[in-house]
Amino acid sequence: MKAIEVIDDLRRRFPNEPEYIQAVEEVLTSIEETYNAHPEFERYNLIERLCIPDRIFSFRVSWVDDSGRVRTNMGYRIQHNNAIGPYKGGIRFHSSVNQSILKFLAFEQTFKNSLTTLAMGGAKGGSDFSPRGKSDMEVMRFCQAFIAELWRQIGPDTDVPAGDIGVGGREVGYMYGYYKKMAREFTGTFTGKGREFGGSLIRPEATGFGNCYFLLNMLATRNIDIKGKRVAISGSGNVATYTALKLMQLGAKVVSMSDSDGSIYAPEGLSDTELQFIFELKNVMRGRIREAAEEFPATIEYRAGERPWQFAKCDIAMPSATQNELDGDDARALLAQGVIAVSEGANMPSTPEAVKEFLNARILYAPGKAANAGGVAVSGLEMAQNSQKLSWSAEEVDRKLRDIMSRIHSSCVEFGTEADGFVNYVKGANVAGFMKVARAMMAQGVV
Ligand code: NDP
Repeated sequence: MKAIEVIDDLRRRFPNEPEYIQAVEEVLTSIEETYNAHPEFERYNLIERLCIPDRIFSFRVSWVDDSGRVRTNMGYRIQHNNAIGPYKGGIRFHSSVNQSILKFLAFEQTFKNSLTTLAMGGAKGGSDFSPRGKSDMEVMRFCQAFIAELWRQIGPDTDVPAGDIGVGGREVGYMYGYYKKMAREFTGTFTGKGREFGGSLIRPEATGFGNCYFLLNMLATRNIDIKGKRVAISGSGNVATYTALKLMQLGAKVVSMSDSDGSIYAPEGLSDTELQFIFELKNVMRGRIREAAEEFPATIEYRAGERPWQFAKCDIAMPSATQNELDGDDARALLAQGVIAVSEGANMPSTPEAVKEFLNARILYAPGKAANAGGVAVSGLEMAQNSQKLSWSAEEVDRKLRDIMSRIHSSCVEFGTEADGFVNYVKGANVAGFMKVARAMMAQGVV
């Protein structure tokens, strides 16, 4: 396989899907050597079968807003690969959602889920519906209309969705409620459910906490203590807020957060009270991050329209908002101020140019598919609890999450350590994730 030829062919066949091509390119260039060491992979054309999703559902979602107007959105589910377990991956509701973005996310999810060591294939879904500014009833009607179309394609052993951008506990609850009505069964078809109806303890915290555990593993390889380190975070949603909480518990200073309108900067680090306010602002009041600076003007400043990377003084960056939110200039700005580690909470937040900068500078750089895998790992634990009809304590789930993140880190070290001892976590994560899926696909024949 010549990675460049496969990528050119995909670019020709899917010319309007830049995010999908970007994700494929990153993986193929780093697994090329390993792939070519196994001629049997090429005989089975494994690479094309791994890059192109098993199937894609796309559908119209019609719903009625509070003023009685009939609205339409697009809905999608990409079932990418189920060689090692049922399709598994979140649902994203955001105005930017399109097939390219969901295909990139489903592709990434396949490798990420493989890395967790749990039995989960890769999928992703979503809609260009934005919950922002919608009433609870509008969100509920939309979720019901979305599931009215999708429910036949998902199930506890078929395809298990979860949350992502714009889909939190509220949306999962509404979707699961309608799924349950249509399917007439109470099973673990969604993860990230409420605790009263099968949700796992620690699932809301899992992606952010898991990213911090991964970061601790990386810092340990260079004997660096997290205490007192200044960390710039982007985003202020599920992943960003729980990353901030764990970092502060570990004694680090969280100096920034953001949303799509701008960033806040707290040069001395957020206090517990300030972070608590942000939790309520985002989850209860559903407000904007700007309001945190308005509430605490003495300690927090607001930068409209800016991302944290160019101005927040920090030792570590944890981008936790969305794809391609940190570009080459941002990477150079971070490196110029001596950043030692970047650990990605979001999926593909760094552009290819930024990734190159981080790798060339030989800092600790963890791609999202390794660092943010804690979310789906605890989703896998939620599936296990649901199928046994029991629930584990928070301590037990947290312990399992720590173990899984350590194992993912070890896999990255095993497959990504270069001749001079530098750990290329991008290569490590891609090769480790790929090999398991590849072996399973080989064993199952051409299907
Ligand atoms: P949320 O919807 O809870 O939060 C998203 C945050 O990112 C918000 O602050 C949002 O701001 C901001 N944001 C979204 N889109 C953009 C944009 N185009 N430009 C700037 N800011 C933006 O989502 P999550 O926290 O769940 O997800 C964040 C990232 O983490 C995503 O990349 C997701 O795929 C990834 N992830 C999530 C997992 C999970 O368990 N939830 C698991 C693994 C990865 P605003 O409110 O203005 O839109």
